[in-house]
Amino acid sequence: MKKVRTRFAPSPTGFMHIGNLRSALFEYLVAKGQGGDFILRIEDTDQTRYVEGAVQFIYDTLKVCNMHIDEGPLEGGNFGPYTQSERVDLYKKYAEELVEKGHAYYCFCSEERLEKLREEADIRKVAFMYDGHCQKLSKEEVEAKIKAGEPYVIRQKMPKEGTTSYEDIVYGRISVDNNLLEDQILLKSDGYPTYNFANVIDDHLMEITHVVRGNEYLSSTPKYLLLYEAFGWESPEYIHLPHIVKEGGKKISKRDGDSTFMDLYNMGYLPEAIINYLALLGWSPEDNQEIYTMEELIEKFNVKRINNSPAVYDIKKLNWVNAHYIKALSMEDFKKLVIPFLEQEYDLSSKSDEFLDELLGIYQNHISHGKEIVEEVRLFFNDEITLNDEAKEFMTTEGADKTVAEFRNQIENITEWTVENISAAIQNTKEVTGNKGKLLFMPIRIATTGQMHGPELPNTIHLLGKETVLNRLK
Ligand code: GLU
Repeated sequence: MKKVRTRFAPSPTGFMHIGNLRSALFEYLVAKGQGGDFILRIEDTDQTRYVEGAVQFIYDTLKVCNMHIDEGPLEGGNFGPYTQSERVDLYKKYAEELVEKGHAYYCFCSEERLEKLREEADIRKVAFMYDGHCQKLSKEEVEAKIKAGEPYVIRQKMPKEGTTSYEDIVYGRISVDNNLLEDQILLKSDGYPTYNFANVIDDHLMEITHVVRGNEYLSSTPKYLLLYEAFGWESPEYIHLPHIVKEGGKKISKRDGDSTFMDLYNMGYLPEAIINYLALLGWSPEDNQEIYTMEELIEKFNVKRINNSPAVYDIKKLNWVNAHYIKALSMEDFKKLVIPFLEQEYDLSSKSDEFLDELLGIYQNHISHGKEIVEEVRLFFNDEITLNDEAKEFMTTEGADKTVAEFRNQIENITEWTVENISAAIQNTKEVTGNKGKLLFMPIRIATTGQMHGPELPNTIHLLGKETVLNRLK
């Protein structure tokens, strides 16, 4: 059997959105699950969209996500170069070969002519399709035009009859009537290939066995298959992935303010958690396991369980997964995660190491991402606490003031400031006032912390210190 080879083929346009990273992950899992190779190919033929530093960014992302690249621009390999702009001569050679074989042709149509065709199509309310005008040119005419320096593109000659079909591993059988396929451009007038051409040439030459990518390419894949056929090449397997959408069905996009991988990373989401979560966007295991290491994903991932309905990006679920990973960190790693966020906001030099250890010990089980700690612990750094409307409203509940007054009483009587004694003070407050449940805990929590939710109350109160607590209870 052929060695499995997959490729991640990003365009270096600046950032890596969640969908890109999920494609990379699924490519990686398909390859590694079968002992194959994972290749990085940089698709930079659209020079207008090129962003400086983007390739480095892609490398950094794959590295922190623990995806090892077997072949790529920096790694090298037997199928290089792995950057498309360095392969331009190659595409030209293959495009000319297709012309020779009668499956492509030179086209000299001016932008004005094409614009006119587009307008006509608009008026007739039909989709624009190039009309094949230049197919009629004789070999001599073509040669003369090229010699005269006329700009040209090379177009694929589509069959006018029949259908082209393939079996997508996720979407099943996909068929397109050939007469609906446009004679698409393979080589642009600047000599660069289009994506539509380059992806075929490269996937073939790089011996890619499985193409994993977003489903926006699902319906153009028949055009690529006609290219494979024209060259007499065997085509790879196709695994098109469902879109990632938000609740309500809208596609996630950076422009709408949806987070990219780096946004999440910079907010203190752990790469392992993001990867774990992304694996579940479109794929589901046979059992109900939700937490996976990369090794477990490699072992359990199965393309047959990729679902073809849109995958819903759910930040609450991501938070849940991330919280799970945060809880599992060693104290040392947890500190590495949160101290930089805290230092940005607070002066930590005034706090003792014991205080910080106790604080972080309490909050490690309580936050869903690193940056969240900043607001959560504000009550320990600011003397003043401010209540939101909901908290203020709660404090007007009948009996709330009684809880607070008695609790203050109890606190005043504590001689040894320990978590146990604070728990006992809460218990005594319950007995004296007869208030229990929400009416017991909430007024105490709000009055001491200003918040309506938080970690274990006795621990929080202990950490605040008796003086602060008494001041606030006033
Ligand atoms: N450069 C393409 C993209 O970023 C790659 C698509 C593919 O994997 O073939 O969308």
